Amino acid sequence: MLKIERNKELAPFTTLRIGAAAEFFAVLKSRSDLEAAIIWAKEHRKKIWILGGGSNVLISQEVRGLVLKNEIKGSEIVERNDDYALVEAKSGEIWTKFVNFTVQHGLYGLENLFLIYGTVGAAPVQNIGAYGVELKDVFYHLKAIDLKTGHEKIFSARDCRFAYRDSIFKHQLRGRYFIYSVTVKLKRQPDFKLDYGSIREELLKRNIKEPRLRDIVKVIEEIRNAKLPNPALSPNAGSFFKNVEISRAKSEALLKRYPDLPHFSASGGKVKIPAGWLIEKAGFRGKRIGPVGMHDKQALVLVNYDGASAKQVLAFIKKVKAAVKKKFALDLEEEVNIL
Ligand SMILES: Cc1cc2nc3c(=O)[nH]c(=O)nc-3n(C[C@H](O)[C@H](O)[C@H](O)COP(=O)(O)OP(=O)(O)OC[C@H]3O[C@@H](n4cnc5c(N)ncnc54)[C@H](O)[C@@H]3O)c2cc1C
Repeated sequence: MLKIERNKELAPFTTLRIGAAAEFFAVLKSRSDLEAAIIWAKEHRKKIWILGGGSNVLISQEVRGLVLKNEIKGSEIVERNDDYALVEAKSGEIWTKFVNFTVQHGLYGLENLFLIYGTVGAAPVQNIGAYGVELKDVFYHLKAIDLKTGHEKIFSARDCRFAYRDSIFKHQLRGRYFIYSVTVKLKRQPDFKLDYGSIREELLKRNIKEPRLRDIVKVIEEIRNAKLPNPALSPNAGSFFKNVEISRAKSEALLKRYPDLPHFSASGGKVKIPAGWLIEKAGFRGKRIGPVGMHDKQALVLVNYDGASAKQVLAFIKKVKAAVKKKFALDLEEEVNIL
């Protein structure tokens, strides 16, 4: 039976370890828990807010309404032929466990996304991506429950309007649907993407010329562990800002002033500039103000070093954004969802 608690502190449920109380709070273990929660919220006229692994949120004030912590788990292969398999996972499944499940079944496509924090249900919200692969590359469809009506709807990739760290669930449909399950279409033959980051280099260092799935997963694990601070030791939410997409003309003007400016082609003829580089050049790599700072190895990762409050984080990011704006006349946009 669904247990609804009052005044629940949310900080322990976030990787930044920052939070405030939820007016009402419940943990979901099943579809019937979800249905009961929707009915309860309707009866009590409370807004629903969904929490997965809390690895992409900054909770800055008390959450009025009902917070649902999603722990509805399970993964299964729902269709398979000689070329591909469709694999469906419930949204409260831990993302990395889901990737492991697909690797164990010899399915190709999710390996570069290994060790991204959080749950399956949050993955389409920001179209998670790493090492040259995004969820949208393997996405088949998702099932979502309308929080107003309780009805289920299937969303295709097109319906989700995926873009760089973006989807319709961050905009027009923000707060409207509970993503219940996600289905991906994975290949049964190898089709590795090794050219992004240092994957190929790391494989060669280990003298692996014909990698297997497990080799890629191992290498990604080692690269990520070496580069990213562990939230259990240094509370953080991964990249705090998105990389910046600008017009070609603007990038050419910037390149004249900063010939070492790293830049990559992005969709729609745009050019992507790594936000970490901008933050570093604006003097914020490794810089701390009180208990908050940008990490010294990864300038894009904001770390709560010592019991920071949301107010301190918000004041700090204002300074980071102002410094980047002053130096490059570019606006940083938060990747983390600020509530
Ligand atoms: C160390 C570290 C490294 C990271 N590396 C990467 C990376 O390489 N690439 C990348 O893309 N991200 C990365 N992230 C960010 C994060 O892991 C992803 O954004 C992840 O998908 C968030 O999952 P979550 O379950 O923790 O979401 P939460 O933080 O709980 O929620 C995020 C948002 O999604 C909404 N949401 C969650 N579940 C649902 C649901 N079932 N239905 C509808 N809405 C929902 C929430 O309401 C909220 O708005 C990293 C984070 C950390 C801490």
